Amino acid sequence: MASEFDLIRKYFTRAATSAALGVGDDCALVRPDPGMLLAVSTDMLNAGTHFFPDAEPGKLGHKALAVNLSDLAAMGAGPRWATLAIALPEADEKWIAAFAQGFFRLAGRWRTELVGGDTTRGPLAISVTVMGEVPAGLALKRDAALAGDDIWLSGATGEAALALAHLKGRVKLEGAALEACLTRLHAPEPRVDLGVRLRGLARSAIDVSDGLLADLGHVLEASRVGAELLWDSLPRARAIADCPDKALADDCLLAGGDDYELLFTAPKVERAQIEAVGRDLEIPLALIGAAVPGDPVARLRDTRGKLVSSPRKGFDHFA
Ligand code: ADP
Ligand code: MG
Repeated sequence: MASEFDLIRKYFTRAATSAALGVGDDCALVRPDPGMLLAVSTDMLNAGTHFFPDAEPGKLGHKALAVNLSDLAAMGAGPRWATLAIALPEADEKWIAAFAQGFFRLAGRWRTELVGGDTTRGPLAISVTVMGEVPAGLALKRDAALAGDDIWLSGATGEAALALAHLKGRVKLEGAALEACLTRLHAPEPRVDLGVRLRGLARSAIDVSDGLLADLGHVLEASRVGAELLWDSLPRARAIADCPDKALADDCLLAGGDDYELLFTAPKVERAQIEAVGRDLEIPLALIGAAVPGDPVARLRDTRGKLVSSPRKGFDHFA
């Protein structure tokens, strides 16, 4: 059977390109560019909690990195390096090869170098740490939203949660809708280029991993502002719009999680610039509301200004 070191050499070692020293020594050595801050983030995926134990390894490799790149994007940081800690129940080389392929394909697309990690035996668990760079002073922090800012959302929320509902038998999706939702759940696309382009345009940002309202709530709390959202302006993917179970669709839209879209606030004067960025990157960007003075609460209104109720706890005016 392959030893730990064989596995590392065979599947997780690539020649260092931008790192001063990559995999193989006690530490990696990296050199951030002058004037840049290092942005560092870790996300862990546990079998049974964050993915099904029989999940496709290639998609898992992709997702483990994608969720981390999404955090860099939400900070306006461009990815540079990553480390990977992985616990494996057994040295199943077919599984490891597919996992590594999914990981490195995404890493290659965003020029992220794997520079180290740890490989152990144990219940399947994956922890990735990413390091990126952002110019000092341009990081998109959660606490920087101001009353009067526009609130924007990339893409659309809810499809990953709808896929999960399908897999749990709560709804039955078919055809293109099922395909789209499963892709969102298993192989999310981090908005890396968008995050970088929002430097100097957006004031604050967060990636939507725990649900639109919950993650917006983090920005509101940190920034000490409230939010008014327009119910009809929330972008709805086809599968959400067509879902026969309206209550489930609304729940996925507002509170689903695993979306990895960027939610950001920006001064109104930046509208045209932001729209241009969206066109340029071919990423739909929706203006969904505004930050307002007051308690850190999000209110949803219909076109006539009437409050729309939502079944979710933690936000005001819910029926
Ligand atoms: P140490 O005992 O010094 O922690 P290890 O034996 O754990 O070193 O790892 C040897 C080298 O392989 C180190 O450079 C480490 O960063 C790297 N490494 C271990 N596992 C992985 C992995 N899954 N992906 C990338 N690099 C890894
Ligand atoms: Mg080690």
